[in-house]
Amino acid sequence: MDTKTDVKERLAPCGLHCGKCFAFYEGEIHNTAILLQKYLGNFAPYAKRFAVQLDPVFEQYPAFAALLNYLANASCGGCRVEKCKFYKNCKLRACSLERQVDFCYECPDFPCEHTGLDDDLYKRHVAINQKIAEIGPKAYYDEIKDTPRY
Ligand code: SF4
Ligand code: SF4
Repeated sequence: MDTKTDVKERLAPCGLHCGKCFAFYEGEIHNTAILLQKYLGNFAPYAKRFAVQLDPVFEQYPAFAALLNYLANASCGGCRVEKCKFYKNCKLRACSLERQVDFCYECPDFPCEHTGLDDDLYKRHVAINQKIAEIGPKAYYDEIKDTPRY
């Protein structure tokens, strides 16, 4: 991932990393879920056996498989492509498009009071944008790309 465009695809205008979201269609969680499904193969009948012979935890395999399947079918294109599924009140996407800025820190009104974000997310958004302003989107991306989102 070398170009500003690629970094922008993954970092939303608020600065959060859509690529690390479990709902992102090309994210690491999504890709890893597909890989795990592939290597587990037809594990279900074995899980039943292991539940008896090894550990009752394997009784929970159907629930685990259902969640894994959910993660493997993630379909969000990220905030640059579509409205966020979680932060439904967020106004940053539409506003940054209207103001033609990639990130809020580029806006003369930053930090503003009409983001629609809750307090916690608002603080994170301001801190992240200040950091991106200081070191640039690519350096920020490289700094956080391998840390967990959650
Ligand atoms: S837009 Fe929202 S739901 Fe989609 S990847 Fe980004 S944070 Fe996740
Ligand atoms: S007005 Fe606020 S939400 Fe809109 S781009 Fe500027 S800082 Fe971001």
